[in-house]
Amino acid sequence: MRAVRLEAIGAMALREVAMPVAGPGEVLVRVLAAGICGSDRHMYKGEYPTGRPVTLGHEFCGRVEAVGAGVTGFVGGELVTVDPNIACGTCPACRAGRVNLCDNLLAIGVFRDGGFAEFVAVPAQQAFVLPDGLDPVHGAFSEPLACCLHALDVARIVPGSTVAVLGGGVIGLLMVQLARLAGAAEVVLVTRQASRRALALELGATVAIDPAAGDVVAAVRGLNGRGVDVVLECAGVPETLQQGLGMLARGGALVLFGVTPAGVEVPVRPFDLLVNEIRLEAAYLNPHTHARAAAMVASGVLELDRLVTHVVGLDDVAAVVGAAPQPGEIKVIVRP
Ligand code: NAP
Repeated sequence: MRAVRLEAIGAMALREVAMPVAGPGEVLVRVLAAGICGSDRHMYKGEYPTGRPVTLGHEFCGRVEAVGAGVTGFVGGELVTVDPNIACGTCPACRAGRVNLCDNLLAIGVFRDGGFAEFVAVPAQQAFVLPDGLDPVHGAFSEPLACCLHALDVARIVPGSTVAVLGGGVIGLLMVQLARLAGAAEVVLVTRQASRRALALELGATVAIDPAAGDVVAAVRGLNGRGVDVVLECAGVPETLQQGLGMLARGGALVLFGVTPAGVEVPVRPFDLLVNEIRLEAAYLNPHTHARAAAMVASGVLELDRLVTHVVGLDDVAAVVGAAPQPGEIKVIVRP
């Protein structure tokens, strides 16, 4: 079969490889749609640890093609989304229920072969069944959505809250929709590209601000005179973390979601955090949220089609992952 292999840092290629088999406890999935994530670009550049050589692709949806020994609950033919994060279940974090912090986390498409391929074998417990007629492209959104749901859980948005989403990539545009569904009365999206601001307004943002147009902290604070209750930081750049802290109302919470390069430092004013009782939180991966994400995707409540700007085949994956995102690009979907 064909698979896109990360062979070394900066070296990725489409290869003919042996067909995987469903081992004991595994299912073999024929990949129908896989999302390219910003993390794939980080892995390509060596900015995020991976196994090598490895087939990347951790956001995918497909059909169960074969069922390994001892697997119950699958007979073959089911449409599934796969939670790529395999927790060990025995380390202290797992035993405390915090599986995203597992000491031995082994992610599919990062440390073992993933979905930029025609087929992938995965542990059956990582596969979640979707309604049969669902568009597999929608199914491929389950993984990023599951991460966003964890951020929403951490943020504790209550109906009537004001929320700012910083960064209008696919994550920010999912967060805008989730914040509205969580009952936020005002959702401000801050992003530089005008097309994304326009789309965000159609997806439920009440205000969209260009951070390059002036003092973004003053602009957000000026909307209601007190700042926002929740900031979802989805840009992954140091300045948005600082800006986000500056635009919070007293008692507000900032949820760090974007990935900044390791080692980056950001000055903060602890006094301000203290006397305003600011909650500085982080949301990493998808602990126990994949089933909810799959259910949400299946429900059709989210606008996903408008987030897909490019659909490519396996032949093009290495070029897309190896290049910076194109202007206007939101989500690139691979259809093997
Ligand atoms: P993305 O496409 O890179 O989106 C981030 C966007 O932020 C950029 O495209 C850019 O859009 C905007 N941005 C950059 N600088 C900005 C600034 N100064 N002010 C406001 N906006 C700015 O990435 P994504 O796929 O949406 O993911 C967002 C982040 O979440 C990434 O860092 C990703 O690695 C991370 N992530 C984290 C988790 C987790 O579990 N925590 C899971 C998945 C992804 P404009 O050009 O429009 O400004």
